[in-house]
Amino acid sequence: MRIVLVGPPGAGKGTQATLLAKTLSIPHVSTGDLFRANISQGTELGLAAKSIMDSGKLVPDEVTIAMAKDRLEQSDADGGFLLDGFPRNVPQALALDEILEQRGIELDGVLDLEVPEDEVVRRIAGRRICRNEGNHVFHVEYNPPAEEGVCDVCGGELYQRSDDTEESVRVRLEVYHTQTEPIIEYYRKQGLVTTIPALGKVDEVTARAIEALRRNRDSDS
Ligand code: ADP
Repeated sequence: MRIVLVGPPGAGKGTQATLLAKTLSIPHVSTGDLFRANISQGTELGLAAKSIMDSGKLVPDEVTIAMAKDRLEQSDADGGFLLDGFPRNVPQALALDEILEQRGIELDGVLDLEVPEDEVVRRIAGRRICRNEGNHVFHVEYNPPAEEGVCDVCGGELYQRSDDTEESVRVRLEVYHTQTEPIIEYYRKQGLVTTIPALGKVDEVTARAIEALRRNRDSDS
């Protein structure tokens, strides 16, 4: 399956993408994680992306599209992928169409996670991430690790993302409404979008997502 996951910052895209990718046996491709890996490795790309990400704005399309294309061309993505954080605006959606078209493949669906804005802010403020692995995500209140500041999965140190500040979150939400929401409309016209409420326990949301993707797939065949 080739799926795009959308939703506001703090909707739980990363958490759900990790669980869904495992269930569906496809790689989880997160542009946010790819940028953060570049930052921690100190690459040129990471240096260029860091201050933009911290401000909450989007990294320029040219850089982002090249990075996503490169990742999608790796062989583990041949049998499908779960895209998280890409595309994030209409030009990126058009670029993704072109990447897929060149390979004669299409998206199977777009899963839209819906969360009220006040909940988004609460989730982001309490979010803690593992230094070793960006997919190991906790929340001080909703999903606390057994030992404060330590990752349950690998023992890594937990930290708060430098773009999880109030100021940056405001910008990210604004960017989401003005630039990312239009892609939902773009995909809706193609009959690809399934919206699910992303409130409730993590595994309940995953179950809802799997059910929605299966329904979507069955109605296509
Ligand atoms: P969020 O929880 O806000 O959805 P992500 O980890 O997906 O966080 O992204 C963090 C930041 O990385 C974004 O605010 C943006 O600066 C940058 N970024 C990630 N994906 C893209 C993209 N497709 N285009 C441009 N910038 C991106």
